[in-house]
Amino acid sequence: MILNIADYWVVLLSIEPFLHEWSRPRQKMIQEQLKARDITSEKVLKAFSLVPRHVFVDDTLAAKAYSDGPLPIGFGQTISQPYMVALMTQILDPEPNDRILEIGSGCGYQSAILAKLSAEVYSIERLKALRDKSLENLAKIGISNVTVRLADGRLGWPEKAPFKGILVAAYTERIPVPLTDQLAVGGRLVIPVGPETFQELVLVTKDASGQIHRQVISGCRFVPLV
Ligand code: SAH
Repeated sequence: MILNIADYWVVLLSIEPFLHEWSRPRQKMIQEQLKARDITSEKVLKAFSLVPRHVFVDDTLAAKAYSDGPLPIGFGQTISQPYMVALMTQILDPEPNDRILEIGSGCGYQSAILAKLSAEVYSIERLKALRDKSLENLAKIGISNVTVRLADGRLGWPEKAPFKGILVAAYTERIPVPLTDQLAVGGRLVIPVGPETFQELVLVTKDASGQIHRQVISGCRFVPLV
């Protein structure tokens, strides 16, 4: 018997315990919040279909997990809006062999998306309860290529540098120097920059001569990097 691509999807969905739950809201989210806007990267869209977002929020919020906004994850922190996670991932553009650094693991949802698109994800969280939660959530859905460390993300992860991609999920007025130092040549850093009231999503790249370039992508709203 020869299976076509569509059959493989059915097989895959039936063996993954969380993907058959909330599958319609998840497809609707991808269609209406991502594709209908400017998320055109097929690999990013596919990663969103492979990560059950409801696993990353409290059970009482499961029905809202696929709605078009951020949600509380405790300790004054939030899981970012699906569109923002998608936009940052699309700008970062991780490749299958890349090593990625993430600052601000939160509940681990963005880490899971990055894990589907790259070889290794190193994620830093400053709150122990959220570090533990993200590890628990990632294990639940069988993701094993993410390492989460309890530390100050502004210092980066020097032992694992350089990184082809660095994604920061909290805003800062100034881009921490260790992060640009730990960016590989040809690497991409995506970070919200600005004061509390209004931030810009900035893409920082490092060219072959080690020169840093900044490009503003859009306006955004994040919790602070502290
Ligand atoms: N990536 C998450 C969003 C997390 S919100 C998602 O998938 O939706 C931002 C996170 O950054 C919070 O969990 C917060 O505790 C963490 N954070 C803030 N400052 C930090 C710092 N200096 N180092 C590491 N984590 C930090």
